[in-house]
Amino acid sequence: MTFTIAIDGPAAAGKGTLSRRIAETYGFHHLDTGLTYRATAKALLDANLPLDDEAVAEKVALELDLMGLDRAVLSRHEIGEAASKVAVMPAVRRALVEAQRKFATKQPGTVLDGRDIGTVVCPAAPVKIYVTASAEVRARRRYDEILANGTAADYDAIFDDVKKRDERDMGRADSPLKPAEDAHLLDTTEMSIEAAFKAAKTIIDAALQKN
Ligand code: C5P
Repeated sequence: MTFTIAIDGPAAAGKGTLSRRIAETYGFHHLDTGLTYRATAKALLDANLPLDDEAVAEKVALELDLMGLDRAVLSRHEIGEAASKVAVMPAVRRALVEAQRKFATKQPGTVLDGRDIGTVVCPAAPVKIYVTASAEVRARRRYDEILANGTAADYDAIFDDVKKRDERDMGRADSPLKPAEDAHLLDTTEMSIEAAFKAAKTIIDAALQKN
């Protein structure tokens, strides 16, 4: 038996930071499933292949090595955009979900974050958390993060982008972004990352006691 923590939510809600911190605290393996969609998109872009040919994209997704995902390289904005296009194709999702489920069985436990972990990838996970925040706050956090890295940023463009990505992720037919029925909702609009972590820890500790 392993113990799986499923963390879902929209772009820039703080899932990544929270998930990494949880994984570190409990000594669990962590997979940012967004990186699997990003890596698939990047491989297509690098090879000058179309982003909407399902058979081609499926082949790339099937060949993906989960251990070779590089967050620094994959975090680029254009790759995120391309990833959300690739992510609407069911054959791509099937291939990546299978790899993600395999990862979820690692001992002693795992933290997976993404859009459909609690609903599709690991519906039996004993802990499901849906992290969200208003689009304004998410855009502001991303804007501050880019500025802190010493790069120029345009808040309005980032805000439009966050909304566009929400529409694509929530509106797609296959595995749309939505909270699982039994997910704990964590709205971080007016919460620090520290407070969000404490809230998540309380939820996880209670579930570990029951397990
Ligand atoms: O979380 P991140 O911004 O890295 O995800 C990039 C894109 O990958 C998302 O906009 C979404 O379309 C897709 N994705 C997904 N299912 C997941 C994780 C990410 O569809 N579990």
